[in-house]
Amino acid sequence: MADLRTPWVYLTTPIYYVNDVPHIGHAYTTIAADVLARTHRQGGAPVFFLTGTDEHGQKVWQSAERHGLSPQLYVDRILPRFRDLWSRLAISNDDFVRTTQPRHIKGVSEVLTRLREKGDLYEGSYEGWYCLPDERFWTDKDVENGLCPDCHRPVERISETNIFFRMSRYQDWLVSWYESHPEAIRPESRYNEIMGFLKKPLSDLCISRPKSRVPWGIPIPFAPDYVTYVWFDALLNYVTVPWSLGATPEEGLSRLWPAVHIIGKDILTTHAVYWPILLAALDLPPPRLIFAHGWWTVDGEKMSKSRGNVVDPGALVDLFGADPVRFFLLREGQFGQDVDFSREALINRINRDLANDLGNLLSRVTAMAFRYFPETGVARPEAGCSPALKEAAEALLPQVRLRTLSLEFHRALQSLWEFVAFLNRHVDARAPWVLARDPALREDLSAVLYDLLEGLRLTGLYLAPFMPETAGKIMEALEVPAGISLLSYETHGLPGLEALYRVRLAGALFPKRDAQGNPLSEEGEKPRKSSSPAPGESGTAAAAPAKDSAPAPAVLGEAPAPEEPPINYADFQKVQLKTGVVREAVPVPKSKKLLRLSVDIGEAEPRTVVAGISGSYSPEELVGKTVVVVANLTPATLMGVTSRGMLLAASTENGVSLLTVDRSAPPGSGIK
Ligand SMILES: [Zn+2]
Repeated sequence: MADLRTPWVYLTTPIYYVNDVPHIGHAYTTIAADVLARTHRQGGAPVFFLTGTDEHGQKVWQSAERHGLSPQLYVDRILPRFRDLWSRLAISNDDFVRTTQPRHIKGVSEVLTRLREKGDLYEGSYEGWYCLPDERFWTDKDVENGLCPDCHRPVERISETNIFFRMSRYQDWLVSWYESHPEAIRPESRYNEIMGFLKKPLSDLCISRPKSRVPWGIPIPFAPDYVTYVWFDALLNYVTVPWSLGATPEEGLSRLWPAVHIIGKDILTTHAVYWPILLAALDLPPPRLIFAHGWWTVDGEKMSKSRGNVVDPGALVDLFGADPVRFFLLREGQFGQDVDFSREALINRINRDLANDLGNLLSRVTAMAFRYFPETGVARPEAGCSPALKEAAEALLPQVRLRTLSLEFHRALQSLWEFVAFLNRHVDARAPWVLARDPALREDLSAVLYDLLEGLRLTGLYLAPFMPETAGKIMEALEVPAGISLLSYETHGLPGLEALYRVRLAGALFPKRDAQGNPLSEEGEKPRKSSSPAPGESGTAAAAPAKDSAPAPAVLGEAPAPEEPPINYADFQKVQLKTGVVREAVPVPKSKKLLRLSVDIGEAEPRTVVAGISGSYSPEELVGKTVVVVANLTPATLMGVTSRGMLLAASTENGVSLLTVDRSAPPGSGIK
């Protein structure tokens, strides 16, 4: 066998059975392959990433009959279930194969002809138990009580003549190949499983179905009464596609082969035994790597149609967006092991890892850069970024890439989040808002913000393969002019690369979610499904961060989620509380709850504050009242009025009661 190794990275997912309904297992395989593909591309390797659909077989034919459609029309109609899902999940496949495409059909005929010429095919009769849903035969010892050992549905006795592939011929070769290439199947437990399986003699593989029984399949060129068995046909896509891409099949394949196959553990035998043997029969080297990941359970139970607990990835994308789903699936468990899905776990990850750790970091840092250096932007200090940032970046970020390349996705994301945690600690330790008070510390302030902006840029670079849309938003907020697809570890990976940051204000990257997964609203009066009152309706005029608002270091812009840790005194100090006197109060048109107040907090002009207190206070009784105002909250627009502060109030069953001071205090008095 010629050594065909190339610098190309050829990555595949299984081609999914088009008649199936996509579940998170399909999404898991495909997202993992996508992250791997994007990481290789960002490292400068040429990548060919292939996915597709398996469209032949008895089940498709029967479904088409039931729908009164030709099988081709039927598969054309259901194809978007998979194809559209991948585009919604930002899957960056380079090609999409359908087994009904002429290029694939041509390739399968070619394979069959070659195998026949080699003497690896023969006609034989076969009698066995047939499982229709699985489209496969079982022997007497497999079948118990007339049920399929795999899906536990009734099997039927079938005897027919078919075409067989002499698989047994290659068994010794495969065993010795695996003995010298133990790295070819991962994780190691799967390798051991296959070596155990190969201790028993292999039977030959039935690769045909009589046309009379299964009319929907690829014709066998030398046996007109038969079509190709659907599994056999599907498996061949990994070579028929590269064959179709070159001037000759050999030229097309030699560029890409061997492939890295990412699969679920349920199809390990097909890929780790039948497939390399078929390749050997075609004089092609075995795959570079077969990685079999584990299964998703749901709330601790096996996912199955009969239990009704199949998780639809499309519905998750509708509710949460593609990036949080991509992040969760790869962060939650170890790739290779079984993982449990629960909506609660997904929401926790969104609220904690995404909204708190990453989203807040971006909005805080960009808001400070925008506020403190509106004219000049934040320039790189002469000495570049700090040794602390450099050290953290160099220790953690290369791990993200290395761990991804070894398919340890959850550990890759752990490393990246350690870096995000470092940046958050850097904000707290260097307290830019303190530096900002002293004009003599302006250079320090600039250097700290530069570190943080560089840290965010590097986070975006390493996050891009996992969460491309989010990485794009981070780069946009930083005004770094590189498209996500043009990012490169080599070109963009150095800390201290950017000379100047003129940032844009970033909106919230990830809205926090309530227990049902609904976004906690950012605007005061958005209808909400949960019974808890919206900010602004609980007696305080909410001022959550708004996308187009003027800057302020956003800190406590939203209600803390129940599982958040306690804050420290420094956190509390970030909230600027002042006394204010209400000078004017008028209802906000068309709003039942909102009043527009003009509150004097000792500044040149009174502040406009929108408060959801109309049910508890009339405008008249408010004028002249001393109130407590949160003065450094990001302004928010409620019903078209921009609110630049928030009143504190106690929330009771009978409405709200405003906080005031016990003895008289002039407007603008600080509250500690
Ligand atoms: Zn079955």
